[in-house]
Amino acid sequence: MKALINGRELADKMQDQIKTEVAELQKNGIRPGLVVLLVGENPASQTYVKNKDLAAAKIGIHSKIERLPESISEAELLALIQQYNQDSAFHGILVQLPLPKHIDEEKVLLAIDPKKDVDGFHPMNMGQLLIGEPTMIPCTPYGIMKMFEAYNIELAGKRAVVIGRSNIVGKPMAQLMMMKDATVTIAHSKTADLAAVAREADILVVAIGRGHFVTKEFVKPGAVVIDVGMNRDANGKLIGDVKFDEVAEIADYITPVPKGVGPMTITMLMYQTVAAAKKQK
Ligand code: NAP
Repeated sequence: MKALINGRELADKMQDQIKTEVAELQKNGIRPGLVVLLVGENPASQTYVKNKDLAAAKIGIHSKIERLPESISEAELLALIQQYNQDSAFHGILVQLPLPKHIDEEKVLLAIDPKKDVDGFHPMNMGQLLIGEPTMIPCTPYGIMKMFEAYNIELAGKRAVVIGRSNIVGKPMAQLMMMKDATVTIAHSKTADLAAVAREADILVVAIGRGHFVTKEFVKPGAVVIDVGMNRDANGKLIGDVKFDEVAEIADYITPVPKGVGPMTITMLMYQTVAAAKKQK
């Protein structure tokens, strides 16, 4: 292995830079604000929201968590989003997913003012990304692009494979790498001979949601391996989608779980909140 891609370290460095920028903005009377709408009691969501709140506090971003009951109606949630769309104290609005089944996720994402959509999930922002004119970018793939930059990992002309085709990770990841001139394949649960497809990758991004699914049979020696997965093993320990120990033996670069992609996702959320505040001033 040439290097472990240390997401925690890079995130801390970027968060320090963002903190300095926030202090500068405050001198000019601007305090970036982020509101997170959390519906129900999903334990994983509670943890994510808590971590976002801690990062915001550390950086000096004004953050508010709206804890809403599982029973909230779709209309009530939409009305609350409209209220925050109008509220100039908040430059970013994030609705923590997943939502309860009685609420239409697409309608909710569509209701957020695209200028305040710091998660980058609004169809307008997704469309901008697809035409190569990104405005707000989904934070997880954006954070991974920052990792490539920080570790001088060149994408142009490389073969990249993304396993997973979700709207929040797989699809925007593929698009961002294509924009940097990689030749990208997206694989998923119906891909035939997945290991052989993955083995073609110079850069392999894994976002499946199955603990230790990717073994060394999936990896070309010398590849860059990015593990997005966050899973719990039988003992409740956080593990990635990649079997780290055996893949690290043959990969040139690899991200760990934890302290890999996760901290960068939160960092990019802060980064985009500050960018949104600057644009809205
Ligand atoms: P998702 O919406 O459930 O999508 C999973 C994708 O993986 C789907 O496209 C699915 O294929 C594919 N897949 C599932 N089983 C597969 C298999 N056996 N072989 C090949 N492909 C398979 O998940 P997501 O939201 O993208 O998240 C993926 C993982 O990343 C989860 O562990 C999640 O917790 C984690 N995550 C981490 C962060 C972070 O900041 N670190 C952020 C977001 C997500 P089909 O489309 O064919 O069903």
